[in-house]
Amino acid sequence: MVNITFPDGTVREYEKGITGLEIANSISRRLAQEVLAASVDGETWDLTRPIDKDAEVKLLKWEDDEGKHAYWHSSAHLMAEALQELYPGIKFGIGPAIEHGFYYDVDPGEGIAIKEADFPVIEKKMMELIAAKEDIKRASISKKDALDMFSNRDENYKVELINELEDGTITTYTQGQFTDLCRGPHLPNTSYIKAVKILSSAGAYWRGDEKRPQLTRLYGITFPKKKLLDEYLVMLEEAKKRDHRKIGKELQLFQFSQTVGAGLPLWLPKGTQLRMRLEDFLKKIQREFDYDPVITPHIGHKQLYVTSGHYEKYGKDSFQPIKTPEEGEEFLLKPMNCPHHCEIYKAFPRSYKDLPLRMAEFGTVYRYEQSGELHGLTRVRGFTQDDAHIFCTPDQVKDEFLKVMDIIFIIFRALDFKEFEAQISLRDPEDKEKYIGTDENWEKAERAIVEACQEKGLKARVELGEAAFYGPKLDFMVKDALGRRWQLGTIQVDYNLPDRFELEYTGADNQKHRPVMIHRAPFGSMERFVAVLIEHTAGKFPLWLAPTQAVVIPVSERFNEYADQVVKELKKQDIRAEVDDRNEKVGRKIRDNELKRIPYLLIVGEREAENQEVSVRKQGGEDKGSVKLSTFVDEVTREVSEMMNPGKLDF
Ligand SMILES: [Zn+2]
Ligand SMILES: [Zn+2]
Repeated sequence: MVNITFPDGTVREYEKGITGLEIANSISRRLAQEVLAASVDGETWDLTRPIDKDAEVKLLKWEDDEGKHAYWHSSAHLMAEALQELYPGIKFGIGPAIEHGFYYDVDPGEGIAIKEADFPVIEKKMMELIAAKEDIKRASISKKDALDMFSNRDENYKVELINELEDGTITTYTQGQFTDLCRGPHLPNTSYIKAVKILSSAGAYWRGDEKRPQLTRLYGITFPKKKLLDEYLVMLEEAKKRDHRKIGKELQLFQFSQTVGAGLPLWLPKGTQLRMRLEDFLKKIQREFDYDPVITPHIGHKQLYVTSGHYEKYGKDSFQPIKTPEEGEEFLLKPMNCPHHCEIYKAFPRSYKDLPLRMAEFGTVYRYEQSGELHGLTRVRGFTQDDAHIFCTPDQVKDEFLKVMDIIFIIFRALDFKEFEAQISLRDPEDKEKYIGTDENWEKAERAIVEACQEKGLKARVELGEAAFYGPKLDFMVKDALGRRWQLGTIQVDYNLPDRFELEYTGADNQKHRPVMIHRAPFGSMERFVAVLIEHTAGKFPLWLAPTQAVVIPVSERFNEYADQVVKELKKQDIRAEVDDRNEKVGRKIRDNELKRIPYLLIVGEREAENQEVSVRKQGGEDKGSVKLSTFVDEVTREVSEMMNPGKLDF
């Protein structure tokens, strides 16, 4: 017999060789229908794999990431099996599960292309194989047998992979006529998969190496219910409409120029308006929280980054040093602001009375990304962090975390991110050697972060072993309007840079001490944040942020003069307004400005001009009728101020 311990701590005795599926069945039929894989002592296993010793077992369902992973990995095999039947001689690269679905890299052979028009045929074949309810069987196999098997089938990519594996560790999975070299885990059979969709194809170099053959990467997704697939496809359509690259162009927010260089965004006037408003908002909050703004150059001496350790870590894989013509000195484009801020810290002798010291800079940094990795504003080569570094004593860490969390909450509230998650990354208690800094300081900081979250009532997932080697951190993920997760703000404790830069302060005991450094960026970077904001709002920015808050539309030329007068008055009251005096029909002007996501359209004609009124139409079509211009101004001013000062926050 073996003892199986469940996540709630209960222990049950089973026959040796029991499987995850049998355990599920022993609990309930319903559970047995829902489980996809089993976690056995922390490793994800097939449901049909026998358990021979005492173990901690968690049954994994669709809701569990590992369950989904096994499901989508099995779906990748299913797609490969279908492809093998449809394209005899096709060769396979790798086919993993990814965050949403799976892909398989395939080589269909000389002159054969798999195009979008072929997707329905592949899907149909996959459905046939699902209907056949083929068992998915695991087998351990010697390296020699694996090499024989795959070279007989001319699977040269697989042979290359096998050659890198160690004998005794190799497994294959077989369903129907299809066998794959694979570690698993997989579903028990193909019938678990209910709805399939091939999403797209792209070129992908074998092993990411442009000197190797280019394979076809087919992306797909599957679900245990047809309804889930339908919902996913609707979400994808909506995501396409909200793509920040598309909306950024429509609203003239930013642009890229190949002449300036890939991944180097150009902020257009309207985008700059938006970004500056975000920056001003944060600057105002930072003033209230006693931050000192600083400004540092875009380049720094190579030695600065040798000291900080950045050069060793990123030097070769990033932009190369700039040399001065006379002295032959080497400078690097700044990949991070922290080393510069450490030098500011060192500008004066510091005492414990000076701490905490909070230095803030909207610092533009440059990091090389491969051209294939660049994507709109979310993956760029130059970006501006809303950076700040807090230098404090170990005892001040908790208080500083609480304050940074306040700032992050104010921002999320003002920008209408209602749902977010937090993750606390702590060190691996089993492997303390790989971290820098004293045990005492780590414990203090880790406790501080956990307590700060508790005090704020913030639910945070704790991940052991996810901390950087130089300190624990707290990350925030927001959920956007489509339910997609984006990583935004980070608060990171750092014991490393203060050491490397030999930062000190004189304590109350008159002795020298090392300060703790905290890196924090509530937005992350302005580029990424604006991208997320565009996709979250579909370009319908909150009123306080909208580059143009109101457009005045005269019903005919006769009222252009009054319209101009209205705009002038609005601008005087700090409301961003424009007039649309194009010689077009009113209906057309309304439509055009709605497409530009203008929050308020103000239509003016005879009656409005006579009474100093405007006829207010809110974004989305709500007609609020004619009101005095002064009333409109008061309402907008109040709305903006409420958004920017959301008051007490509770979570
Ligand atoms: Zn596999
Ligand atoms: Zn930093």
